[in-house]
Amino acid sequence: MTEFTAEERYQARLIFEGKAGDAQKPCVHCGGVHLRSCRRVMEIQWHPDGSVIGAKYWHDGEWDDGNTVWPEDAYDEDDQPKEPVR
Ligand SMILES: [Zn+2]
Repeated sequence: MTEFTAEERYQARLIFEGKAGDAQKPCVHCGGVHLRSCRRVMEIQWHPDGSVIGAKYWHDGEWDDGNTVWPEDAYDEDDQPKEPVR
């Protein structure tokens, strides 16, 4: 499991709870939160209108989820709910 900063976990919690706005939601492909493209996706088929019409995924254990925050990562027992220091 990757260690994430309090800031990253805070942002991920907002996204998991739907408080980060419509543009930011958990990844539709893997269910986690990550800044870059989803590493679970092997291949995506796009419709010309921009929607996704199909995707091939790596199997569990075959992809590197080191940049992905999972709910269990976002909700660290040691974390008190607080604003991140900026
Ligand atoms: Zn993803």
